[in-house]
Amino acid sequence: MKIVGIAERTVPIASPLRNARVDFSEITASVVAVATDQFRDGRRVVGYAFNSFGRYGCGGPLRERFIPRLLRASPHELNDPATGIVEPGHAVDLLLKREKAGAHAERSMAVGTLELALWDIVGKMRGLPLYRVLAERFAPPGTEAPHAVRCYAGGGFYRERDDLARLGDEVRGHLDAGYTEVKIKAGGLPMTDELRRIESVLALVKSGSRLALDASCAFERQEALAFARAITPYGLRWLEEPCDPGDFETYRAVSEAYPGIVAGGENLFSREEADNFLRYGRFGGRIVLQPDPPLAYGIRELHHIVEVALAHGVARENVVPHGGNMMSLHATAGLGLGSAESYPGLFGPFGGFSREVRVHDGFATLPEAPGIGFEEQPALYGIFRELSASLGT
Ligand code: MG
Repeated sequence: MKIVGIAERTVPIASPLRNARVDFSEITASVVAVATDQFRDGRRVVGYAFNSFGRYGCGGPLRERFIPRLLRASPHELNDPATGIVEPGHAVDLLLKREKAGAHAERSMAVGTLELALWDIVGKMRGLPLYRVLAERFAPPGTEAPHAVRCYAGGGFYRERDDLARLGDEVRGHLDAGYTEVKIKAGGLPMTDELRRIESVLALVKSGSRLALDASCAFERQEALAFARAITPYGLRWLEEPCDPGDFETYRAVSEAYPGIVAGGENLFSREEADNFLRYGRFGGRIVLQPDPPLAYGIRELHHIVEVALAHGVARENVVPHGGNMMSLHATAGLGLGSAESYPGLFGPFGGFSREVRVHDGFATLPEAPGIGFEEQPALYGIFRELSASLGT
C-alpha cells in the first residue's frame, strides 16, 4: 500500500472552561487525514487522528517537517513486508531520523498524531477495531482483549458563574449516564471553597475512592503539601499533578507526606521523561501514570512507557492513559491497562466516545468499527471528512 496524500488543519475548540492554571479560551487541536491507495467496502482507506486535548495544535512541525518526511518515504520503507500494510513503528523511526534527542513536546505531538492515524489505517486494512490489533501486538502474553474497560468521567472544570450548582448538575449527569467514578479540577480556589467543592461531589458519589482531583500543576511545594494534608481525610482515588511535571522534588515531598495515590504523566512526552519522573518522584508504587498516546509519539512509545512503569514497580492497572477520546480508549483496552477517562459533553466534537460505546456501571464497552472508529462520532467525523475531501483523492 502507498500513502497518496496527507492533510492537516488546526481547529479551534474555544471553551469557557478553566482549570487551576489556564483557561481554554484559545485552545486548538490539530487534525490529520492520511489517505492511501487502498479501498475497503468501496471506500478509500484514510487514517484519521487528532492531537488529544489540553495542549495547542502542532500544525507548524506537521507542515514543515513530518508530513513531508512521511510523504517522501517509499512503501518499501514504510510497510510491513509480511502484510504489505504500513507499519507505524517504521514510520516513527523515519520521522525521527534527523531529530536530535530531547525537547519532545511539540515534536512528539506531531509524530504521535501521525502515528495514531497510521494505526487507524492498519485497523481499517485488517477490518478490526484498533484495540484488537493492539492487543495482538502489545497485550501481556496469555491475556485476551477485553469486552469493556473501567472508565471514569473527567471534568469539574471551574465556571465563571454558579460553579457549585453546575458542578453538582454535571456529576449527577455522569452518574445517570452510567459512570461511577469522576475526576474534578482542584487547586484554583481558596482552600475553604475547594473543600466545599470536594464535599459537594463526595455527597453524590458516596465514597472517596470514586473521586479523583486534578490540580493541573497549580502548586508550589508548600502549597502542594498543605493541599495534600487538607484532603488526606477524604481517602480520594488520587491527587493528580499537584506541581510542575519536572519538579521531582515536590512530587517526592508530596508522595512522602500524602498517604494516598499521586497521579501524573499527561505532560511527560517520552519514555525517558516517564523514567525520570518515576525514579525521582519515589512514589513507592503509589502512583497512577497518565501518558497520552498522540501527545507522546503514539502507541509504540506508550508501550515503551508501560515497560518503564512496570520496571519501576507500577502495576499495569495503574497506567491510565490521558485524553478521554477514542484513541486512549483503544490504547487502554489494547495494552491491557487499568482504566480510561472520558470527557462527555466537553470540548465540542472532540469530547466523548463514539456512538458505539456504552457506559454502564463504571465500564465502557468497546467499539466494533474498524480502526479507531471516528466514523461513528458524527460531529468529529464531519471535520475529518472535510479534511480528507481537501486532498481531492
Ligand atoms: Mg490532568
